[in-house]
Amino acid sequence: MVVCMDNPLFSLAEASARGRLAKLDGGVCVCGFRFFPMQRIGCERCGRYGDHLKTEAAEAHGTLIAAVTVRLVTDPDLPVPFTAGYVRLDSGVKITAIIDGETPAPGSPVAVAAHDAIEI
Ligand SMILES: [Zn+2]
Repeated sequence: MVVCMDNPLFSLAEASARGRLAKLDGGVCVCGFRFFPMQRIGCERCGRYGDHLKTEAAEAHGTLIAAVTVRLVTDPDLPVPFTAGYVRLDSGVKITAIIDGETPAPGSPVAVAAHDAIEI
């Protein structure tokens, strides 16, 4: 399980058998490129902007690409160490999230949950 911090970009989806999954408010361009978070500045692939970009919820499931344990941060209120993971969602969108619990091996399937605080 990977965890996204509570944020206006994330919201809890309805409880499911697999737990409280995150609803990730991403977007999609008319060219098919998907991204997260939603923005209207411009598509990273084709450069279109504005009405060419639509809101689309990103899947809360994906694959762990890599993970790193963070032991030093500049924010004294952020407890360390914690492990951050780079995840490719099933829709193709890539996100960075905190890993909750044991760190799975790269290539493992993961679910993304929303949290109201980092619990490390
Ligand atoms: Zn595009």
